[in-house]
Amino acid sequence: MKIKSFEFNLFGVNTYVVWNESTHEAAVIDPGMENVREEAIFTDFISDNNLKITHLINTHLHIDHTFGNDFIEQHYNVGLEACDDDDFLGKARAQQAQMFHLRISPLSPLQISVHLRESDKISIGDEYLKVIEVPGHSPGSIVLYSPVDHFLISGDVLFDGSIGRTDLPGGSQRQLIDGIRNKLLILPDDTVVYPGHGPSTTIGYERLHNPYLFG
Ligand SMILES: [Zn+2]
Ligand SMILES: [Zn+2]
Repeated sequence: MKIKSFEFNLFGVNTYVVWNESTHEAAVIDPGMENVREEAIFTDFISDNNLKITHLINTHLHIDHTFGNDFIEQHYNVGLEACDDDDFLGKARAQQAQMFHLRISPLSPLQISVHLRESDKISIGDEYLKVIEVPGHSPGSIVLYSPVDHFLISGDVLFDGSIGRTDLPGGSQRQLIDGIRNKLLILPDDTVVYPGHGPSTTIGYERLHNPYLFG
């Protein structure tokens, strides 16, 4: 599988496209585009590479990761795939915008079409991403793992040298740290971690250097 990242919106969200090189089927993960310029950057990449978007997946439903959800749903005619435990956040995008004092036109409630759960496999051609539930940043946070290509898309669970904040509704630092230790740090050292914000890292590096995961 190939992967491409974009950095969108004022929160600097990483939006990812993962695709199958032989079939050109593609998944978009956390569409953060918030204006026509960012939408054009995205659609140009998709058409230049002759990709067909077959999945729209969110690692979680915080507002910064969903600015572009309506655009992707309509433009590519795909339904949202996410974990049910974040449904309350998807339904409350207007309130989330208020909480962050955003002056944006009201965002409609999100409807989850495919309810993702632990160990689900999302097929992209004959390749797949596996769902790993790691709650704590939000109750429905998931990580998408490719055991074959040795990478994972970690949303706001795990960052380069840091972990997700846990002071938002439904957050739990204990749960987050336990989940990272028990489900992510057991993966091979060379697994590349593509986070929701900031640069990529590896599981091997985080196991040795991430100060939140010691003790
Ligand atoms: Zn978040
Ligand atoms: Zn975020």
